[in-house]
Amino acid sequence: KTVERITIIGSGNWGSAIAKIIGNNVLDHPDTFERTVRMWVFQEQYNGENLTDIINREHENVKYLPGIKLPENVYAEPDLLKACENSNILVFVLPHQFIQGVCQKLHGVVSSNCKAISLIKGLDISEQGISLISEDISQQLGINCAVLSGANIANEVAQEKFCETTIGATSPADGEFFYKMFHTPYFRVNVVQDKVGVELCGALKNVVAVAAGLVDGLALGDNTKAAIIRRGLLEMRKFGQTFFKGVQNETFFESCGVADLITTCSGGRNRKVAAAFVTSGKPIDQLEAELLNGQKLQGTSTAQEVNEFLTARNMTQGFPLFTTVYRIIYEGEPCTKIVQDV
Ligand code: NAD
Ligand code: 13P
Ligand code: CA
Repeated sequence: KTVERITIIGSGNWGSAIAKIIGNNVLDHPDTFERTVRMWVFQEQYNGENLTDIINREHENVKYLPGIKLPENVYAEPDLLKACENSNILVFVLPHQFIQGVCQKLHGVVSSNCKAISLIKGLDISEQGISLISEDISQQLGINCAVLSGANIANEVAQEKFCETTIGATSPADGEFFYKMFHTPYFRVNVVQDKVGVELCGALKNVVAVAAGLVDGLALGDNTKAAIIRRGLLEMRKFGQTFFKGVQNETFFESCGVADLITTCSGGRNRKVAAAFVTSGKPIDQLEAELLNGQKLQGTSTAQEVNEFLTARNMTQGFPLFTTVYRIIYEGEPCTKIVQDV
């Protein structure tokens, strides 16, 4: 019986945390998975050394997930094509702005019987339309792509603190397969069929998290933040159900929906940087560089992408929270608008 060979594409904060889970899980299922899990690392120097060399020697991603040991069967590889060679399972976990470049490099190289899953929280939106990142991956590589999204702050997951997550898979067989790959007693997977709803939740909640950060920066308190979260959840659902077929109400009650909103609006990076935007007056790019040590924001660019899409349809007024976040971050509107215009 052949075993499945897994490549994780991405090795940031979440990519490294998920490498720990997958690396350990494959050891429990030697009949299903190959022992070595390869992880593509965007190469950089750390204290004068290749990050991949440090990861392979210390079994720790000292830059993006310091203090957490990775299983020794996780192997860091800087060459994308080598990392993916002969793999039949691809796990995409990159900041969403980098997915196009990666897909272009993989185009024509990946075998059509590969399975993929995207852990990316973001969208690809242009005036022509919206594509989900998982759809882009499917189209460009000619493979199926499931999604995983949930209330999963990477550092907490890596410390094995109990949480839940949601896998969206249209085929029950794929759902069962990915359950085996990701589920642990501390990282509880629930599989649903509404893949589109799961992916939209993960992308759009980051815009709401920016709003929550603005509220924190303004020191408006917990009631205000709860109001923003509630309105944000409604806008997320409206966006999904207006522009996509088949998005289910129930999906918003899974980990990927309301639970991810709650955790990101309290402990996430989008929240943190948006709060600093209010208190420091510095531009977002500068704060991202100063506060996140190479980690990337998704919520501000998603706000911009959503705005471009809504503007092209003359529908910004139907989504006041998404629109106000965009105007504050990109058009210099006062931060206090977050409670005046929504
Ligand atoms: P991160 O924010 O830590 O991002 C940094 C990563 O991007 C690094 O691995 C860096 O090497 C890489 N990178 C930099 N420039 C690049 C380039 N030009 N091309 C390719 N890669 C480049 O990453 P992350 O936290 O693993 O996030 C990946 C996705 O997972 C995001 O969509 C995020 O929303 C989602 N997510 C994150 C968390 C979390 O808590 N961190 C939790 C759930 C989901
Ligand atoms: P941030 O990117 O805002 O840190 O959110 C992480 C996340 O998606 C937690 O589920
Ligand atoms: Ca597109």
